[in-house]
Amino acid sequence: MEKYKVYTLSNFRKIPQVQTYLSADEQFDIEVVGSVLPFKVNNYVVEQLIDWEKVPNDPMFRLTFPQKEMLSKAHYKLIAEALRQEVGKVELKKIADRIRLQLNPHPAGQQEQNVPEIDGIKLTGVQHKYDQTALFFPQHGQTCHAYCTFCFRWPQFVGMDELKFAMQETELLVKYLNRHPEITDVLFTGGDPMIMTAKRLRMYIEPLLHGKVPNLRHIRIGTKALGYWPYRFLTDKDAEDVLELFKEVRDSGIHLAFMAHFNHPAELRTPAVQEAIAKIKSTGAEIRTQSPIMAGINDSAEAWKEMWQLQVKHGCIPYYMFLARDTGAQDYFAVPLIRAWEIFQKAYQGVSGICRTVRGPSMSAGPGKVQILGPASVAGEKVIVLRFIQGRNAQWVHRPFFAKYDEKAIWLDDLKPAFGEPCFFFEKEKQQAAFQSN
Ligand SMILES: *Cc1c(COP(=O)(O)O)cnc(C)c1O
Ligand code: SF4
Repeated sequence: MEKYKVYTLSNFRKIPQVQTYLSADEQFDIEVVGSVLPFKVNNYVVEQLIDWEKVPNDPMFRLTFPQKEMLSKAHYKLIAEALRQEVGKVELKKIADRIRLQLNPHPAGQQEQNVPEIDGIKLTGVQHKYDQTALFFPQHGQTCHAYCTFCFRWPQFVGMDELKFAMQETELLVKYLNRHPEITDVLFTGGDPMIMTAKRLRMYIEPLLHGKVPNLRHIRIGTKALGYWPYRFLTDKDAEDVLELFKEVRDSGIHLAFMAHFNHPAELRTPAVQEAIAKIKSTGAEIRTQSPIMAGINDSAEAWKEMWQLQVKHGCIPYYMFLARDTGAQDYFAVPLIRAWEIFQKAYQGVSGICRTVRGPSMSAGPGKVQILGPASVAGEKVIVLRFIQGRNAQWVHRPFFAKYDEKAIWLDDLKPAFGEPCFFFEKEKQQAAFQSN
């Protein structure tokens, strides 16, 4: 059994590699940024994924260890001074919370807009934005085996959300799904649902099986466990029970799709991850993969090409390339839309058709998932062609639209409609809806 050792702000200085490879200043930077944004890493990441000779530029290091530049200079200074003056926990938290509120903790109107109700009860652990798919946030799956520095779920890891996005039982979920026959997919998400014991996971999944939700076709599990702790499926005490549960899902006639989050080819190269992938696939589950594109972590065509090739080689299906969400340290990790598209295109051109199941680059914005199809010239005007992969309104899906060319834009909000239009088509409908409901 592989022993899981977790490191956070309180004990990261005990990591031998930190002592060997990081200066006192670099360690202090981690403490400063880690006081505002979440920080957690484990022995697998430290020993098998990070190449310490390349630190601080190693991608897996940048993925898991806080970097100085993730905070603005002003915010950095506030925390650094507070630490130097040893202001104490309570005061430090106050300062950190003030900074956190300035980092757009709830992008894309997640909290207000997507929480459904049933008989007047709010389903706080469910988000239902796109017709066919309901997201479910099990209360016990709201943490991860390590934290990504760019994570857009960061507010819940620093105690800001107090797990508002979580539910303890599936009774209400089952009721809701039965009343919404358009839903075919439940996507377990978090945090990372694979942080849960097999027993807990079973508690959440079993009520959905055996015909209790006739419209349910697919159960998806959004997880980073293959990247951060493949032993979850190999040597953890209940690894066999987890795999057994996956088999039961398949035997009950429901497709189990493992939505695996991989950010860098390094995560696919270890024997442990390759074995874990094989184990999961042997249960009949499929593994689809997704990742955001992040500066300094995977902003090169080579990284994506190798990722997709390794994934397909081991039997996974490349699914999404995302863009950095407008929250937390986005400025630091953001890759401009056009640059992301160039990387996507170059990687896509370099792989064979069976890797081209991937879609992207895509933004999960308020109106929906918007894909950058690329720059083009239309009647002499330089534009960016986009389309909805998913839309808050299903009628928007797969409909191309055009924005003025803008090399610096990093998010949908930065874009302006092309051809002198006053607003994008989906904004028009939003305005009309608001007008009608007044
Ligand atoms: C991405 C996402 C889904 C799943 O979308 P698919 O395109 O079906 O993978 C569902 N709900 C929300 C809110 C999402 O952001
Ligand atoms: S695994 Fe997912 S939820 Fe967890 S820290 Fe990384 S991005 Fe966030």
